[in-house]
Amino acid sequence: MEVRRTAPVKLAVSDEQRDALHETRDQFLWCANRASEQCWNKYDRDECITNKRTAQNALYDELREETDLTANLVIGAIYRAVEAVKGCVERWKKRQRVSQPEFTSWFIDYDKRSSTIHRNEASLSTHSGRVECPFVLPSDSPTPYERYVLNEDYELRTSTVHYDNVTGEFSLHITTRRFDSDEDADGSTDTEHQNRTVLGIDLGVNSLAVASTGTFWQGDDYDHWVREFEKRRAKMQQRGGQDAHRAMARLGKRERAWRKQYLHTTANEIVTEAVENDCSTIVFEELDGIRERLPFAEWHHVWAFRRLYEYVVYKAPERGVSVEQIETAYTSQRCSKCGFTHEDNRDGEHFCCQKCEYAVNADYNAAKNIGLRYARKQYHSLRSRQKSGSGDAPVNVRINRGTMTDDGPRPIAGD
Ligand SMILES: [Zn+2]
Repeated sequence: MEVRRTAPVKLAVSDEQRDALHETRDQFLWCANRASEQCWNKYDRDECITNKRTAQNALYDELREETDLTANLVIGAIYRAVEAVKGCVERWKKRQRVSQPEFTSWFIDYDKRSSTIHRNEASLSTHSGRVECPFVLPSDSPTPYERYVLNEDYELRTSTVHYDNVTGEFSLHITTRRFDSDEDADGSTDTEHQNRTVLGIDLGVNSLAVASTGTFWQGDDYDHWVREFEKRRAKMQQRGGQDAHRAMARLGKRERAWRKQYLHTTANEIVTEAVENDCSTIVFEELDGIRERLPFAEWHHVWAFRRLYEYVVYKAPERGVSVEQIETAYTSQRCSKCGFTHEDNRDGEHFCCQKCEYAVNADYNAAKNIGLRYARKQYHSLRSRQKSGSGDAPVNVRINRGTMTDDGPRPIAGD
């Protein structure tokens, strides 16, 4: 299975570099918005350009002419726009309201050519040559940067520069991934690429979130830091007095900011997972009643699930992806391979089908079921609309290797 991590790293930026990055961002967004305009067709959504190569051929020369950006930044901006347009067209096909994607937030996408990540600094391409920005690494070791970027097991992917206009700080979000040896063989194939594909997400106690592609967001560092904050708070409480009171207020503020940042990063990664796997929809389990369904989840998990969901809902449309919720009865007990549903199938983190002996991580199995349930629902509503039954386009679920489709309801044990 693939494990993906984003390490946010603060950048030390001189005044001159700051100007260069702001100007580069302006030009980058200008390219992305120009590409969005070019690819969008408001009269006929079927005529929108959703192919990266086509968009690049149509616009690349012009944008290179009009801006001072390097080739890979221009291409990055075009690709970002095509992804967003593609997602809008998918949503339009689902009869949702869509409009031409517009980019307004502060970001610059970098790839391996437009940026170089060194041990203590990043070299970033700008409109006026490269800037070398040293990393500002916190003393709380090991940082995500140490664990995922300096770690040989992880492969560097893309990175994005963000700017916080409240603090005036720049940060580089470096995306890495690792492939684990995979005991999970679904044997399914990726055939119907033109069909709609969804990404299922399971929110769980063992991991913060697991995608139907087998990507895990473990949340163990989240737990670790929540506990650290609790310890520090307890110490301050013991001390008592005005100073301790003020220190606790400061700590509370820091903790809230930290949690928010953590969940924003995870939400971004989930949306990226969908985009990179050509998924038009992210499907979550229903959040109502999650407290009751997960009696062993600590309060901060339930809080995190809700925020994470909200952030994904907020971020996904910008990248052309929609977000849905689906009821989750039996998704943890059902075998995603053969459909057999029984409470004995699941034992904590382990899932083992009592019928077909499919053995797999329980959350990953649940994530696939969430995607499959949504796919099945879409399929049936489509059929009932079309009546004739012809021209059905099954909805696929993106899994670890390829996709799978659900071809009908399966019996539940005891039915
Ligand atoms: Zn089974």
